[in-house]
Amino acid sequence: MNKTIDELVINYHVTEVCNYSCKFCYAKWDRPNELHTNENSAELMLEKLASYFFDVNSNQVKAVFPYKTVRINFAGGEPLILKKRFAQLIMKAKSLGFNLSLITNGHYLTNSFINNYGAMFSMIGISFDSQYMTTREDIGRIDRKDNSFGTHDLIKAVKQLRKVNPSITIKINTVVNSLNYQESFEQLIAEIKPEKWKVFQVLPVLNDNLLISDEQFAVFVNHHASLKEVMVAEDNEAMTTSYLMINPQGRFYQNSSTQNGYIYGDLILDVGVEKALEVCQINWETFASRYKKDNTISLISNSEYQLKNKQNNIALNQGV
Ligand code: SF4
Repeated sequence: MNKTIDELVINYHVTEVCNYSCKFCYAKWDRPNELHTNENSAELMLEKLASYFFDVNSNQVKAVFPYKTVRINFAGGEPLILKKRFAQLIMKAKSLGFNLSLITNGHYLTNSFINNYGAMFSMIGISFDSQYMTTREDIGRIDRKDNSFGTHDLIKAVKQLRKVNPSITIKINTVVNSLNYQESFEQLIAEIKPEKWKVFQVLPVLNDNLLISDEQFAVFVNHHASLKEVMVAEDNEAMTTSYLMINPQGRFYQNSSTQNGYIYGDLILDVGVEKALEVCQINWETFASRYKKDNTISLISNSEYQLKNKQNNIALNQGV
C-alpha cells in the first residue's frame, strides 16, 4: 500500500490533569512524570518528532504513507489547564513547522487565549455533552467551584475563534450516555455550524451508570438525522480499533492485541522516534483503515476516548 495523504496527525496527550471529572473519563495514566514539567524536555521531544517526521529522505511512516504536512494534535486531560506552559509548547511546535490542533473541554477557551493563539490552530475540537447544567453536573463536567462550560460559552468561543481565524475547522465532540441520549442538539449544532460533530456511544470505564444500549444510541443518532451532513457517529464497535498514541510521559503507546491494557514504547527522548515506534510495533494496516476521505491520517488517537474497559482494559479511540 502506498497512498499519498495530505496530513499526518500525531496526537500528544500532554497531560492527564483536568478541571472536570467526567464519570466516563479514560485519561488516567497514574500520573506519570509528565514531560512538560521537566524543564525543556517536552520541547526536546517535539524537536525529535520534527526531525524524524520532516526527514524527507526516509522514515518508516513516510515510506508507507507519503504525506505533505504533519499536525500535532494536543489532547489530555485538559491541555489548556497548563496555561503558560501550554502556550510555550504550541509556540515551539509551530516554530518547528507542525500544524496544530487541540482537543479541549472548552473551560479555558477564553477570549484572551483565543485572541493570542487562536490563529495558530487549523482545528479545535470542543467536547460538549449537554446544554443543561444539571446534566453536566451529573456527568461530572463541572469544576470544584461548580463552574461548567455551558451553551452560551460554547457559542461565544466558536464565534471568537472564527473571528480571529476564519479558516479554522471546528469540531464538537459529544459523548452520548444515559443522561443525554434523549436531549436534542439540533438547534445548537445548526447555530454553531461546526465542520464536524462527532457523537460517541459512552463506553464502560469505572462504572456502568452512564451506559446506553445500541438501540438508545441509535435513537440519538436518528433524532439528529437532519444534521447528517456534519454528524459522524461512532458506536462501540467502531471505537475499538487499535491506535498509537504519545502519553504525557513521552512514550508511544497503544492497546495490545495480545494482552490486556496498553503496551508502551521507550521514552522517545531516550531512544529516538524510530526506535520508540519499533517497540510499539505499529500496525500499519490499522492506520491504513483510518485513511479518511479528508485525506488525513491519524497516527495517534484523539482525546477523551482512550477508555479503559472495566473488565479487560481495552483501549478505545475517539477519532480525530
Ligand atoms: S473526559 Fe475530558 S473533560 Fe472529562 S474529565 Fe476526562 S479529560 Fe476532563
